[in-house]
Amino acid sequence: MAQPDTRNPRSGRRPGRLADDPCDTYVYDPEAECADPGTLRALAEDAWAAQAAGLADRAPFYRDRFGAGLAGLTLDDLPSLPLLTKQELKESQLADLPFGRHLGVPADQVKKVYQTSGTTGSPSVLALTAGDVHDVWRRIGSRAYFATGIHAHSRVLNTFGAGPFVAGATHGVLEHLGACSIPVAPGDTGRVLNSLTIGLADTLLGTATFATHLATIIEDRGLDGPAFGIRHVITGGEPGGGIPAVRDRIAAAFGARVTELMGLGDVSPSLFGECPEGGGMHFAGQGLVWPELVDADGNPVELRPGAVGEPVYTSLVRSAMPVVRFRSGDIVEIQPDGCPCGRTSFRIRCIGRADDMFIVRGVNVYPSAVQEVAASFTPWVSGRSRVVVTGDAVTVDPPVLVEVERGAPGAGGAAPEDLAARIEAEIRARLTFRARIVLVDDDSFGEAGYKTRALVRR
Ligand SMILES: [Zn+2]
Repeated sequence: MAQPDTRNPRSGRRPGRLADDPCDTYVYDPEAECADPGTLRALAEDAWAAQAAGLADRAPFYRDRFGAGLAGLTLDDLPSLPLLTKQELKESQLADLPFGRHLGVPADQVKKVYQTSGTTGSPSVLALTAGDVHDVWRRIGSRAYFATGIHAHSRVLNTFGAGPFVAGATHGVLEHLGACSIPVAPGDTGRVLNSLTIGLADTLLGTATFATHLATIIEDRGLDGPAFGIRHVITGGEPGGGIPAVRDRIAAAFGARVTELMGLGDVSPSLFGECPEGGGMHFAGQGLVWPELVDADGNPVELRPGAVGEPVYTSLVRSAMPVVRFRSGDIVEIQPDGCPCGRTSFRIRCIGRADDMFIVRGVNVYPSAVQEVAASFTPWVSGRSRVVVTGDAVTVDPPVLVEVERGAPGAGGAAPEDLAARIEAEIRARLTFRARIVLVDDDSFGEAGYKTRALVRR
């Protein structure tokens, strides 16, 4: 029998291996996603030149910040400019309600407004022009979602909320990709289970916490997860889907492949998407967003495999509310180069939020490292856990309190009596500090099982 032609009809590239979905071997935007670094650099440099030339005229915030000093700067000059924080954008907004002094267009050109949930204070307002929605967010989102495995034939159970939140932009991307979209309110477990049971979807989109919550229900009730016919589970909104034990558990419960995506409202709600090869999320903002990496002090970190740092973004193309060197607050690790899928962009794993880092005996710790150790005890634990810190302390004296959610009662036999002590010993061995593990029941994390705060302060 003749071998099927698996070349990508748009890029002409042959995949590294034959995937189970022929579309997995395609790339949404091969001209950008498979381009060589020199071509991409030239594309980005042109876009930046146009952005930089007009920014100070368009937005008072940038006029005050840079004067006429922005025009003529190249991308290589960006590290000499100050970093931009969420707090500065918030102050800019309050100084000129409703949109702020960083609005880069007349207000009547704003055609879409999102209000981010905001961890403190009132929500931040994100304004977009029609071009920002269609030519920037939708294009980046299409690259990212296509990479994760959502294609025109997909039937996607989308549990990311629409409402006022930027995750709502996902709905436009799904529509653009031609996928069948089945929206469900975040955390509406009943409706999700019904959709799964009657075979509505082949793709599940949600947070890792929610997917884990569903895995627990599948195990608890002895349901046949693979019989739902879900082929892809795509997680986003938090780093959990990158933790191997969490990912494996979701994959096993559904008999599905798990990939992740990630973004941020101030830049693009989906900015990275993981391809079928696994191995991390590809950057998807080619020619539209310029990424840098910085350390905790804001100094540049070279963006190469193995590097760890905080991504900083500059809008190359964005009319309303462009950002210049915006601190994401995420901490990521750059993954190895050379993905067989043909995409040339760098890949990342998200380690956590910079805010969540704490220090034990002089050693920096991200809660995701603790979560990873705890999750390795599945099925006795669910995969969800969180570090509990007193007040706003950054330095924590051991033992560090960690709440770990128990696994489903029926899964993997009864948990050993000394489970908490075993997890404590493993944390001691791998992370070199003492922890105090408190096992908690499912649902005690609240939030409708939708997102897990990796670190809580009490
Ligand atoms: Zn890839």
